[in-house]
Amino acid sequence: MCGIIGIVSRSKRQIASDMYFGLYALQHRGKESAGMVTIDDGKYYSHKGMGEIPGVFDKGILSNLPGSIGIAHNRYSTTAESDKQNIQPIRGIWGGKEFWIVHNGNLVNTEKIIEQCLAKGRQPYTSSDTGAIATLISMSSDFSFEGAVKKAVKKLEGAFSFIILYNDRIIAIRDKLGIRPLCLGKRKDGFLVASESCAIHHMGGTLIRGITPGEMLVINKEEAKKYYCPRVINRKHSIYEFIYFSRPDSIILGRRVRDIRMNMGRLLAKECPVDADIVIPIPDSGTCGGIGFIEESKIADGQSAILRTHLVSRTFIEPIQELREKGVDLKFVIYDEDIKGKKIVLIDDSIVRGTTMKRLIKFFRDAKAKEVHARIFSPPYRYPCYYGVDTYRVEDELIAKRKNGDVEEIRKELGLDSLGYLSLDSAIKAVIETPCITRTSVSLTKDDFCSACFSGKYPVELPKK
Ligand code: AMP
Repeated sequence: MCGIIGIVSRSKRQIASDMYFGLYALQHRGKESAGMVTIDDGKYYSHKGMGEIPGVFDKGILSNLPGSIGIAHNRYSTTAESDKQNIQPIRGIWGGKEFWIVHNGNLVNTEKIIEQCLAKGRQPYTSSDTGAIATLISMSSDFSFEGAVKKAVKKLEGAFSFIILYNDRIIAIRDKLGIRPLCLGKRKDGFLVASESCAIHHMGGTLIRGITPGEMLVINKEEAKKYYCPRVINRKHSIYEFIYFSRPDSIILGRRVRDIRMNMGRLLAKECPVDADIVIPIPDSGTCGGIGFIEESKIADGQSAILRTHLVSRTFIEPIQELREKGVDLKFVIYDEDIKGKKIVLIDDSIVRGTTMKRLIKFFRDAKAKEVHARIFSPPYRYPCYYGVDTYRVEDELIAKRKNGDVEEIRKELGLDSLGYLSLDSAIKAVIETPCITRTSVSLTKDDFCSACFSGKYPVELPKK
């Protein structure tokens, strides 16, 4: 998963600091590396580094990035290694001129593209799928850059939201299934593009609309013009964006993500009722769903019985189990006196490997809870994601896969008194039935979602290897 940003401003003011705030707002989408590139008077300026935003762009760096047009990226690696050469934006050359690209998603035909490049004597710019795309664009022939991009994009399979910087404009593109989000915003001095609207907000803009699946938008100082927008019938928006990935204040498909999660929590309380004294939503990922659960179940609110410290942020991607467990230990603190003798129900968005849940259950048992139950506002996470979440690297560690989706077996391994998951139908219903808060509403059907991680139904065929 990654976060991407683009700005085109008519003002003479530098936009690097706006992009910095935008990247900050998207930090939850990727923490491994970050980068940005701007253009001023025909010259490109870039800075990239490993780590989180404040470390990558420390003092003085932003002032060395002049210009009022630029793109930026937060990386959470999927296909290639998390190393320096794969930090985005990636630079390419088309027709002797520079362009830069940022990407959120994951292609499933990267190897095929690399083979095609090598067959024509071209070494891909980097080992990542984004490097392969940049190479494909650089090899694409057309009389215009936009035409070359369109031709290259047609060869791609999988999930992609791109922003490309070329000369006096940026180009925003989304795959035809719309798997990963991408939206357009405006400010009085120009246009903004971002993975999520929370970044548009922090860059001082307002959301115009989501970029349509399959759309290619060319944005210069005067206008944001549809270059290409096929009629797409079959959409597959990632359901996991609504469950976990996106920030709760973002507006996606016209709906506030917070409202969707609260709806999921309400439906969960109806589907999997529990006899408990207090509901404890696991912060931050379980908070909104937990509030919905509390509302519907009328069980006492136990949010203040747990503290989430913000010193630790990357427990999920630590390479060693012991480090992941230690990370969870540092992340959460339980107020024992609120727990003793009580029947508690924990609410979280999902269980992936089960590390977080197992540690938390231990804390609550140590605090002398009478019973520990859990309710999850998504179905069992049984299948790896190949479209931008890196769970295919840890496929065999997915607890629901190891237990063949058997909830009773998962409950036993975790050591819970009871466990309940939201059904896929209800998770989707929660999105569809959340009212739109944008001027134009986006109507959805139950077939408009990618639920591969829960159902095993992959909307784009996977490579054989
Ligand atoms: P686990 O401890 O492996 O069961 O992970 C479960 C928690 O990690 C979920 O409740 C989410 O809050 C979070 N999570 C899920 N997917 C990811 C991901 N791809 N990267 C980081 N965190 C994740």
